[in-house]
Amino acid sequence: MNAPLLQINGLHVAYKVYGTRHHVLNGISISVEKGEKVGIIGESGCGKTTTLKSVLRILPSNALIEGGEILYDSKNVLKMDGNELRKLRRTKVSMIFQDPTAALNPVFKIGEQLFDIIRAKYEDGGRSLTSKEIREEAEMLIRQVMLPEPERILSSYPFQLSGGMRQRVMIAMALASASELLLADEPTTNLDVTIQDQILRLIDRIVNEKKLSIVLVSHALGAVRKMVNRVYVMYAGTIVEEGRTRDVFENPLHPYTKMLLASAPKLTGEGISEGIPGRIPDYSSPPPGCRFHPRCPSATPACRFKEPKMVEVEPNHRVACYLYSMRGE
Ligand code: SF4
Repeated sequence: MNAPLLQINGLHVAYKVYGTRHHVLNGISISVEKGEKVGIIGESGCGKTTTLKSVLRILPSNALIEGGEILYDSKNVLKMDGNELRKLRRTKVSMIFQDPTAALNPVFKIGEQLFDIIRAKYEDGGRSLTSKEIREEAEMLIRQVMLPEPERILSSYPFQLSGGMRQRVMIAMALASASELLLADEPTTNLDVTIQDQILRLIDRIVNEKKLSIVLVSHALGAVRKMVNRVYVMYAGTIVEEGRTRDVFENPLHPYTKMLLASAPKLTGEGISEGIPGRIPDYSSPPPGCRFHPRCPSATPACRFKEPKMVEVEPNHRVACYLYSMRGE
């Protein structure tokens, strides 16, 4: 069997804030096969963005990778030198960020920004394109993300476009360099509800057409359910459940997953339900044992002492909770 395209093993990441370490990722493990669509769900602040940024090594300067490995095509990203890393970002993996305004440079026209990405990708492959070829590829990418009048878009500044258009431009930029894996971090958060659905469908169509793999982080649980094959549930820097999308959504095992799915807004006339009571823990001194125990309605005193291990409850459906494993194992 081939090695996964992306394999994160036991990744620990902390942020240093005023001399204190905030342990945001607590030994997470995630894998993505070639052509696979994987989702990560969980409340804001659970470490999802940190996970994606770790893969491209674009974490802020106060981040410390304290342990684990990230294998891309069996090569450890954490040990790549500058050249290897640049090649990975320019030709194989790219990220769609939550906020296109922050990701696009406001003082350069869209065209200039997109041309640079296309030029760099080909230069890394040992080929230089003419200006005409670069422009043609940029126009093709703009058309792929269903934006009209590519010439006008390319000669616009980011502020001259609507939020939905900027997000499509950012997808085009991600596509300019990703030939294998897209990391989509809440790609629709700042958009109108009607546009959100269009953007997610666009990403899905492009991923299918180009046979890319994707890791989708989204609060739009309905969209995640429709789009991905497998899902990881993350709570406070820990993977608490993983499985095929249908199994996790139809038969959630972990108390957190159950509450998360129950707290999703319902459009069925039952009204919008309350969020999960309590808050994500303080990462500078997270609770011992199961990190969810202060909020868990099923917690017992034993849950406070030792972190539960992942156990397979049914084929390809795993959970880290003492309700499914022997306490004290
Ligand atoms: Fe709740 Fe205990 Fe399971 Fe954690 S291990 S989710 S506290 S029952």
